[in-house]
Amino acid sequence: MKTSWTNSWGPVSIETMATSRKSFLVFSDLDGTLLDYSTYSKEEAIPALKKLEERNIPLVIVSSKTRFEIEPLLDLPNMRRTFITENGSAIFFDEEMKINTDHRVIQCGSYNLIRLGMAYPDVLKALGKAQRETGIRVRGFSGMSPAEIANYTGLDLDSAERARHREFSEPFLFCGSSHELQTLISALGDHGLICTRGGRFWHALGRCDKGMAARVTREIFATSFPSTSWITVGLGDSPNDLSLLETVDIAIVVKRHDGSSMDYSRSENQRLIQAPGIGPAGWNAVMLDLLKTL
Ligand SMILES: [Mg+2]
Repeated sequence: MKTSWTNSWGPVSIETMATSRKSFLVFSDLDGTLLDYSTYSKEEAIPALKKLEERNIPLVIVSSKTRFEIEPLLDLPNMRRTFITENGSAIFFDEEMKINTDHRVIQCGSYNLIRLGMAYPDVLKALGKAQRETGIRVRGFSGMSPAEIANYTGLDLDSAERARHREFSEPFLFCGSSHELQTLISALGDHGLICTRGGRFWHALGRCDKGMAARVTREIFATSFPSTSWITVGLGDSPNDLSLLETVDIAIVVKRHDGSSMDYSRSENQRLIQAPGIGPAGWNAVMLDLLKTL
């Protein structure tokens, strides 16, 4: 293949420009999906991750985690360019990636950032108001020490500190009835917040979700790399991944640590794959199979 120059995702050829290359654009949840639920290791997915890397296929992490938790996990070049934090609240693009978008782009350290959610101080204010109005209390990360977060999550203390350093959303524990939860969610809605459920916690955040962030990211890839025809792939294991799965061309449901799978009905014109294994092992198997089809 005759290479003429290199763009952010790799070499661009004259043939590529002429023929429109097909590529997967992979969006993946972390906890319980790419990372093991208990150990937070992605070891079992390394063979598939290396294949994606060899083929220059972008992998966009889409997590409830913060930027500060995600950054240390981005140890492959194709993982570094773009990631989505705090359940779709923000999309971070490496500043060297030339993006073409009508969205407001904010310079943030070495990133260009598109914010879809609400700033953290405003999330806390709204959550506080909703609790006062309803008399329903939650235990949020802002009221927990790193040691408590480590205790609830199984994270080490450094990781718990990074989890506590939030920019757009508040994870919380809720022990009340489902009726109380609905009352709280309704009050949060009055203050511009939504609630979503991850593997361990509820999360309060601005009106955005993983699916919205994935759609914006896809649009940006389409306009920024117009010579590539992107086929979107989404992998997740929990209800906070549903909006992501609904928005992609190929939805992959990864088995949870207890062997169960989240219920998901495919949308029209969508391919649905049930991963044959738990967490990163399922991620690896399904991705290696999928790569054979492109
Ligand atoms: Mg998960």
